[in-house]
Amino acid sequence: MNVLKFGGTSVGSVENINQVIGILKEYSEENKVIAVVSAVGGITDKLLKSGYLAQIKDESYISEFEEIKSIHLNILSNLIPNCPKPTLEALEKKLNRLKSLLDGIYLINELSPKTSDKLVSFGELLSSFIIAEAMKERGLNAVRKNSQELIITDSQFTKAEVKYDLTFNYIKSYFKSNNQDITILPGFISKSEAGEITTLGRGGSDFTAALLAAALEVERLEIWTDVSGMFTANPKLVKQAYPIEKLSYQEAMELSHFGAKVLYPPTVQPVLSKNIPLVIKNTMDPKATGTFISNNYGVNGLTVRGISNINNIALLTLEGSGMVGIPGFSKRLFEALANHKINIIFITQASSEHSICFGINASDSQLAQEVIDQTFEYEISLNKINPILVEEDLAIVALVGDNMKNHQGISGKMFSTLGRNNINVRAIAQGASEKNISAVIAERDVKKALNSLHEVFFESKTKQLNVFITGVGNVGERLVEQIHQQKKYLKETLKINLRVIGLSNSRKMIFNDEGISLKNWKEQLKVGEPASLDGFFFKAKVFNLRNSIFVDVTANKDVANLYDAYLRESIAVVACNKIACSSNFANYAQLKFLSRKYNAPFLFETNVGAGLPVIDTLNNLIASGDKITSIQAVLSGSLNFVFNNFNNQTKFHDVVKQAQAEGYTEPDPRIDLSGVDVARKILILARESGTIMELEDIENESFLTESNLSSDTVDDFYQTLIDDEAHFQNLYAEAQEKGSKLKYVAEFNEGKAKVGLKEIPMGHPFYNLEGKDNIVMFYTQRYADQPMIIKGAGAGADVTASGLFADIIRIGND
Ligand code: ADP
Ligand code: ASP
Ligand code: MG
Repeated sequence: MNVLKFGGTSVGSVENINQVIGILKEYSEENKVIAVVSAVGGITDKLLKSGYLAQIKDESYISEFEEIKSIHLNILSNLIPNCPKPTLEALEKKLNRLKSLLDGIYLINELSPKTSDKLVSFGELLSSFIIAEAMKERGLNAVRKNSQELIITDSQFTKAEVKYDLTFNYIKSYFKSNNQDITILPGFISKSEAGEITTLGRGGSDFTAALLAAALEVERLEIWTDVSGMFTANPKLVKQAYPIEKLSYQEAMELSHFGAKVLYPPTVQPVLSKNIPLVIKNTMDPKATGTFISNNYGVNGLTVRGISNINNIALLTLEGSGMVGIPGFSKRLFEALANHKINIIFITQASSEHSICFGINASDSQLAQEVIDQTFEYEISLNKINPILVEEDLAIVALVGDNMKNHQGISGKMFSTLGRNNINVRAIAQGASEKNISAVIAERDVKKALNSLHEVFFESKTKQLNVFITGVGNVGERLVEQIHQQKKYLKETLKINLRVIGLSNSRKMIFNDEGISLKNWKEQLKVGEPASLDGFFFKAKVFNLRNSIFVDVTANKDVANLYDAYLRESIAVVACNKIACSSNFANYAQLKFLSRKYNAPFLFETNVGAGLPVIDTLNNLIASGDKITSIQAVLSGSLNFVFNNFNNQTKFHDVVKQAQAEGYTEPDPRIDLSGVDVARKILILARESGTIMELEDIENESFLTESNLSSDTVDDFYQTLIDDEAHFQNLYAEAQEKGSKLKYVAEFNEGKAKVGLKEIPMGHPFYNLEGKDNIVMFYTQRYADQPMIIKGAGAGADVTASGLFADIIRIGND
């Protein structure tokens, strides 16, 4: 004999019920089967809602009832097309009884727990009736038995305690004489010894099935549901979660107690005591293996077997010097709670005995507060104990595994993972059996916590990065293309799952918390929502995804002003925008501080030398204990391009125009030609070398004319370049005469920095610098005579995008 239980979704539609009937038919060909069914999915909630509405005299309880009615009539008529009249009448009669009960509640304005149980019992009564009729109609040897006649409880309505001896006896005696191939029973519902309708608690159909299985000592109990087993974490919250093949009873119990809703917690006990294996299967995918729960599951090397969560938790803390060393406080506390049926989910006591902290369901928190403050009224009045402290909007996340006790460092890994993701842990508990380590966190962080922990304990091979890119112009576009092109490689080789979650240009923005498809991102962006910098930040914040990275590919001050906010949310910042790092020192230092404080990298390699590893090299030199003594550099790809192409055959104006057209200059070329861009770069290098410096401290002798510098607009500026051609030709000729070349050089020496145009003689490392290349020479304590030289393309969309890409990957490799 087998016992199979089918949950709400499994009996929630005609298609699924047909699937259930198919499964039962197949089983019954080999063995007798007992099938326990839940109410049609969502009906228990609807019944409770209609009852509540009736109780508060809201007439819309009638429309709620009508919906319940039509759901059942629809299922019946589709399941049994030419439904025999008596069957239809029998169903209508039940529905009429339900309506009368609701009318009664409406009339007397009251819904006691007793009436509530009576009300919700209709859910399972209706579903089991319909399914049994459908089976008979298909010619199966099936019968329906009302489990209220078998399962006997006390009178604690809404969650009654089972009277095991009586129940087991009833079950055994009924099935001794029942010879049907298939017996259908409603789950969840029971009766008290006094004959009143009771229920076994929400989700209790699993338990009904377990009681039948244990009483009859069947071979196995199967729980058929809408997922393929007990997953490593709630699959609705963690996409990467997967079914656990085998679990011990203790692990399954622990996971379900800590929120894995797929199994109602009391279910395990009866089957455990009879050593009956429990299998979780998927009605919609019967071939999937599911989860096998038994006494010996065979350790498969993984110590953490699952992660679960309970939301809606309140944390209560009882504190006071008067508690120290005096026995009996905890006893009084927990007795008081027990007397009011307040269930404690979580307890920790500080070793100083100065405080006791415990977690309960938030719906009990008000009552708990009253009860405790009353219990300790005297001590509180003497200031020996503080009034109880209540914190809400919390949740528990728990790691579960029988074998965790034999392994060091699991809790360390758990808490460092949470910390790295800026998830604040309010309290910690580790059961003495060490099958469970749980942490209380803010409810809004649950999804992020589960996903980060899942990644660390179950997918340690891949790390997910969630990127938000602002500015998809020239460089940004290349970056997105590079991400698109390298996605597979990153996943397979570097084990990085790089997802673009948000994209924005100055007009539109788009988001997808599952990752934007990069195949047609441009078309998607065209029809995106209107762009807003705050809106973009807000989305990144509320998605609250682990390893979030904001990428600034603009040259915009307002964007740079938001880094502060991103870092405070533990969102890493990657920027090619130089404004933040070259703004006042206090701001630069603050961002660096926030980055450390909130564990969020702030990377800006592309601020200097585009994709060249200039800042990274500098940081590595310093980290290894070296000291920078001087930096000599050509840092402007655009100015280098300009002076390499300018000669007595070309016009200065035309060369600058060309540099801009090829994307080597800033949008406003004056920023490059005035030397401001180079000054910003050497400032950043000086700061990264440990010097406190402001932009104004940098000596900047411009090679431009007065009229170039005083031009109001970019167009005016270009006109002045034409007017002053002679000046530029002169600069060229003077250098030419000495056999030198013009290079725009940045220098940092003994804490001082300057930028300016220089005539570079033949033989100097800068002399042969081609095209738009950059060169940086670091003189340090270790590289005293021969500098460390970094040289290569220092401007251009592709190399800048590669530099941004490298910063993103650097975060992934952390
Ligand atoms: P049924 O109606 O079949 O009893 P439930 O809704 O009670 O189904 O339980 C199944 C649901 O439990 C899944 O759809 C899933 O959303 C949720 N769930 C939470 N944690 C887990 C987990 N660790 N493994 C599987 N499912 C889980
Ligand atoms: N129908 C009940 C509920 O929704 C019992 C169950 O489905 O297990 O809680
Ligand atoms: Mg369930």
